[in-house]
Parts: sequence; C-alpha cells; structure tokens
Amino acid sequence: MSAGTDRLRDEFEGCFGRLAEIGRDPAGGWTRLAWTEEDRLARAWFEAEATARGLTVERDPAGNLWAWWPGPDPGADGEDREPVVAVGSHLDTVRGGGAYDGALGVVGGLLAVGELIGRGAEPRRPVAVVAFADEEGGRFGVPTFGSRVLAGVLDPAELLQRVDEDGTSVAEALAAAGLDPDAFGPDPARVGRLGAFVELHVEQGRGLADLGQPVALGTGIWPHGRWRLTLTGEADHAGTTRLADRRDPMLGLAAAVLAARAAATELGAVATVGRVVVEPNSANSVPGRVSAWLDARAEEEQRLDWLVAAFQGAVEDAAGRNGLAVELACESRSPGVTLDRDLAARLDACLRARGLEPAALPTAAGHDAGALAAAVPTAMLFVRNPTGTSHSPAETAAPDDCIAGIEALAAVLEELACR
Ligand SMILES: [Zn+2]
Repeated sequence: MSAGTDRLRDEFEGCFGRLAEIGRDPAGGWTRLAWTEEDRLARAWFEAEATARGLTVERDPAGNLWAWWPGPDPGADGEDREPVVAVGSHLDTVRGGGAYDGALGVVGGLLAVGELIGRGAEPRRPVAVVAFADEEGGRFGVPTFGSRVLAGVLDPAELLQRVDEDGTSVAEALAAAGLDPDAFGPDPARVGRLGAFVELHVEQGRGLADLGQPVALGTGIWPHGRWRLTLTGEADHAGTTRLADRRDPMLGLAAAVLAARAAATELGAVATVGRVVVEPNSANSVPGRVSAWLDARAEEEQRLDWLVAAFQGAVEDAAGRNGLAVELACESRSPGVTLDRDLAARLDACLRARGLEPAALPTAAGHDAGALAAAVPTAMLFVRNPTGTSHSPAETAAPDDCIAGIEALAAVLEELACR
C-alpha cells in the first residue's frame, strides 16, 4: 500500500472517528436528528474539520452547510464565474441508525478536497463540500429537507409549521439552532451556479457485495414515498368488552402490514410499515387509534401507484369489517430519478483511466443527489456494504472500501474541478 493511501487511511480514521462519537448510543446505533444538540455538535465537527483543511464554511438559507475551496480567478465583481463543483451528503441519521449513511459522503468530500490540496492541485472551478440538513426526515417526517428547500421544491411556509412528536415546530427548531426562520427558503442563484454535484454514499443493499466490487456509479433512484395511515376505532376494556362489540384498529393495522407485503411482492417493489403509534398504548386496553407509516418504493411510478392503491383497498376492506374510520395521507413522494448520463459516462471514463472498474447500480433509497438532479447534473458513487444492512447499527463498510470510494471521489473531483 502506498504512503498516500496510508496517510488517507489515518486521516479517514481520525475524521470519521470524531464524527462517529456524536449521537452514538453506547448500547449501539447513532441518532442525530435535525436541529437537535447532536446535530449542532455534528455541524460544529463539520466546521472544525473543514476549517482545519483551509476551507471556508457558510450556511445557506435552507440550513445546509457549505465548505468552500475557492477557484483561483474571481471576476471583477469578486464572484467566481466558473460553475461550482459540489460534493457531499448529510450528517443527520435516522433513530438508532448506522455510522456510514450520510457521514461517509461528508467525510469523503472533506478528505477528497484535502487530498487534492495536499497534492498541490489547482482548482479551475470553485469546489464546495456540502452537508445537507435533515436528509432522513427523522424528526419532522420530510426527507431530503435541506436539499429540496434549497432547490425550491418544498414550500417553506408550509414546512415551518410542521411539528415533531413533542409539538416543536420546524420554525421553533430552526430558531433554537440559531437560524432565522424568516430568512428560511430556497436559493436559486446558488443552485444555478452548480455545474455538478457528486454524492459518495454507502450502498444500502448488497449489489456491490454480490458483484465482488468496492465502488459503483449510481444510475438512478427509484420513485418512493411515505404515507400516514390512521385507523380509528374505540378504546375499551380488554377484559370486559365482548369481541363482537369491539372496534379494534389493531386488526386493521395487521391487515395493512400484510397487504403492504403482499402488494410489494406482487409488484417486485418494497414496502415497509416501520413506525406505529398506538393510543392509548396500554396492555389491558383495546386501542382507540393506531397510526402507522407506510414507506413504499418501486422501479416505476406506476408500480408505486398500484402498490399504494392495493394497500388502500385492503385497509378499507379491513376497516369495513372492523367498524373503523380510515385515513391514508401521502406525507411525501419523490419521483424516480435518472442520474445524469453524460456526467456518469465522464466519471466512468475517469475512474477506468485510473484502473478502477466501477459497477453501475440503481438504488431504492432517496438521496440529496436525487433532490438536486432535476436542477443540476448529478452523480452518485456507492461504496460496498458487505451485508447490505442500513438504517441500523449493523450498517458497515470496510476501511479499504471507504478509502477506495474516497480516492474515486478525489479522482472525479480533480477531473471536474481541476481540468
Ligand atoms: Zn443517506
């Protein structure tokens, strides 16, 4: 192994290790929800790591952090005229998530820029490492929050009123984190300056493990969405209420979970009921209300529509049989994304010229790259995940594969920004 790779490995262990201390549950798993104390610490980590590499950090009006490696030649008005090359990912996690999702792309961006600076590379275009805010939507239920607000896809006024499960609104959370909710919103000029965005990410499936390769270029992102199901019956005594008299929403939920699985199997899609709120959530009560969240993803929009329609039909049947009121509301939906083919072809050629043969893989996971893809030529690099497990403490990637991913990111950054 070369001295350069050894140095990169040491840097990776230090930089990644410092981030992995934040929001770590000693019992396993990482929780860094948006605009919490853990999120504040992760942002402070980003600022310190970027500053240590000579980058300048600023925050955009959607709450995302940008670390700049400026281009060499500002115009007469002091502004760089060349399109910006951006890399990055996110620092937040789901509840009890893994160490790599998001973190690898931010650490990788900082280290890739650090590599180029260390080699004496001269950027011909400004480079930014971006840490997007609230990618997972783990607190307010809106995934790719920061990137979609930035791109003007989400309505800030509606978002500011959303509340977390403690009743804290987005506006209050932003204010508590030192942001001005009145200034919160899109930044079309900033997005317009982007010439390319490349996101390095741990793979969230076993595609690369099955292929026996460390790194892939992304081809696209499946359409996906999140629906909130509310089943309302009548709370009552678990001992004295006759079965025939019950209106038990848990029976509707059971049917819903099985229907989601059956529809996904039928359609070659995936569907998950991973979050449930039961009221009153008492062991000796028939529940009065059950809320559940359906996460569904499919290769094409129409299959996703079919899946949700099948789910809704089964839930309405079960509700009719059990005397329940049913409400199914779409909380978010992201269209399928085809990542930029020209950019992918250029990156593929660049990596092959360096002896790497990247695989080409789609993903069923949403990403900030997908949120930006409509406005900016966007690419993704995936790093092998040996078990495919993600959004879990068991999510992992071998150090050698992380280094291979970061070296690939440095190569494509050099290609896009320094040539
Ligand atoms: Zn992620």
